[in-house]
Amino acid sequence: TAKQRGKAGFVRYVDGLGEPVLAHMQLGGELRRALDNDELQVVYQPILRLEDQRVTGVEALVRWQHPTRGAIRPAEFIPAAEQTGLIVPLGRFVLREACRQAAAWSAEFGPDALPEAGVNVSARQLHDPDFVADVAAALADSGLPCERLVLEVTESAVLRGQQVSRTLFELDRMGIRLALDDFGTGESSLSLLRAFPATIVKLDKSFVDGIEIDDGQPAAADARRAVARAVIQLAHALGLATVAEGVESPEQAAVLRELGYTLGQGYHLAQPMTAEDVSRLLARQRLDDRVAAPAMGLVE
Ligand code: C2E
Ligand code: MG
Ligand code: MG
Ligand code: MG
Repeated sequence: TAKQRGKAGFVRYVDGLGEPVLAHMQLGGELRRALDNDELQVVYQPILRLEDQRVTGVEALVRWQHPTRGAIRPAEFIPAAEQTGLIVPLGRFVLREACRQAAAWSAEFGPDALPEAGVNVSARQLHDPDFVADVAAALADSGLPCERLVLEVTESAVLRGQQVSRTLFELDRMGIRLALDDFGTGESSLSLLRAFPATIVKLDKSFVDGIEIDDGQPAAADARRAVARAVIQLAHALGLATVAEGVESPEQAAVLRELGYTLGQGYHLAQPMTAEDVSRLLARQRLDDRVAAPAMGLVE
């Protein structure tokens, strides 16, 4: 019976709703509870300078520690959060948490230790009339300077018309930096780069995959590197910074450096980690700097 099938019975009453939508609605209910019960956590993946592995920033990534299902990856619940509108409070939580944490790192390790904190923003959030005010409040409450915040948006989110465009320009005017995330996977990438106030381009992982393969056929290797090369040339021409995503091996990092990429993010460089682990990383970096400083003094 419908009762035995539990919420699956709902399908019969809502014409045209497929399984994914149903799953989203169930997940949506749980997500609402998760928000109230502190089941959501923010982890941080360092962004490193390829040249010397120095941490130049972090990207905040949300995690859901479900009481019975265990850790649920964002790919599984962000779409549900977007459909139900819960992405707005969820996104606000991540934003506030990331700003607070970045300001704390800045206070502990100095303002130069961690220049940037990236936060992912969904299209739905950019449509929210309160979004700009939420961002302003997160910055004011945390004390994080606006130029330390990077909002990561995808090309498809940016393409959603007038309101989104106005919001992005307003954020830009406030001094907040914008990054085009997963760059190259969306549509009309090239015109977007000129039309929108992005200052950073994040090369999608799919263009880093296989970039290191050397099968003795230069033409084939060139073809695998073509998009990464084109993106960095375009970025340089337009005065944009770049970050290569999904760097999984030292060989990939080496090829990216050859192509002109200075910043990278990926499992080879650093995994997403807790705020405490980032603090340890920054503490070690500070120690390295102190050891290096007197040595440099001797050279003088
Ligand atoms: P993204 O913004 O492109 O974030 C990078 C994703 O790639 C992260 O997955 C990260 O863990 C993963 N990654 C990093 N390095 C590597 C690597 O070397 N190899 C592989 N295979 N993966 C790597 P994650 O945390 O599962 O997040 C997936 C996506 O979910 C994000 O993609 C972003 O679009 C979305 N997301 C995550 N957190 C939030 C959030 O707070 N708000 C919104 N709106 N979206 C979020
Ligand atoms: Mg991102
Ligand atoms: Mg990305
Ligand atoms: Mg991605």
